[in-house]
Amino acid sequence: MIAGGLKARLAEVLGKTPTRVQYIGGGSINQAARVEAAGISYFVKWKHSAPPQFFEREARGLSLLQQSGVIRVPAVIAHSDSAPQHPAYLVLEWIEESPRAEPLAFAVAFGRALADLHRCDAPHFGLDHDNFIGELPQSNKQKHDWVSFYRDQRLLPQIEMAKARRRLNPTREGLLRKVVERLDTLLEGCADTPSLLHGDLWSGNFMVGAGNQPVILDPAVYYGDREVEIAMTDLFGGFPPRFLAAYQEAFPLFPGHERRKALYQLYPLLVHLNLFGEGYGARVDEVCRKYV
Ligand code: ADP
Repeated sequence: MIAGGLKARLAEVLGKTPTRVQYIGGGSINQAARVEAAGISYFVKWKHSAPPQFFEREARGLSLLQQSGVIRVPAVIAHSDSAPQHPAYLVLEWIEESPRAEPLAFAVAFGRALADLHRCDAPHFGLDHDNFIGELPQSNKQKHDWVSFYRDQRLLPQIEMAKARRRLNPTREGLLRKVVERLDTLLEGCADTPSLLHGDLWSGNFMVGAGNQPVILDPAVYYGDREVEIAMTDLFGGFPPRFLAAYQEAFPLFPGHERRKALYQLYPLLVHLNLFGEGYGARVDEVCRKYV
């Protein structure tokens, strides 16, 4: 429920009293609602035990994506850490989901827009600040070398967390350690350009906006190998069939991307293992066995 304290705070930041609140399901981490005030809708999400800067980091990621100018994200209206009177919250422009009247055109527009996003590059892998993936910390310490970035900033912290959370049996840990040891060889031929990534692009994190326009949400932004992003779009399903072909036409992936794909799915799988538990364990093991 949206607590009275948060409602009062929203009235302050919006400069008008919320008149209608509709709760939204589907978010895996936060509570969310459509809040109407003076005839305008806002998307509000909040979290009671959010770590410091939780929504500030999401807002920064959204701003980075918006600054790319190539793909729509909801505009950030306000955010705050928890305070005695209210939980941490983020207020965004409300995106009206349009029916997919032309699914093919949407898929093509989405593939091309993501390709344009990935053409935005930087001198280093990582980012000038850390952020979160789901509610887990995501370290973005900048590096010139992608393989060591993927190992030290992505796989190893999740493996250590899984160990601390008792989600690694000895077999799984052994498999993961072997993958990590062989990463240089396994990732041979990978991209060497740090691309701007959404960072958590599963099907719950995009919408069809007005005019069939793709809108991306809830990012965990950093500069990385764009194959990681593409691999994630093929992990849990839900992306339109022509999406990948349109992406590939606009910005072809390097040869060998299919061979590296499951390795790049390992990061989100470990994140899911840590967030949601053993339900993701078998897929982690399966990926490791492919490469070990
Ligand atoms: P969580 O951080 O809990 O995963 P999300 O940011 O992914 O929450 O939002 C949950 C759902 O709410 C999304 O899957 C989407 O359907 C909807 N949603 C997110 N942002 C907006 C928005 N700005 N306007 C309208 N609906 C939104």
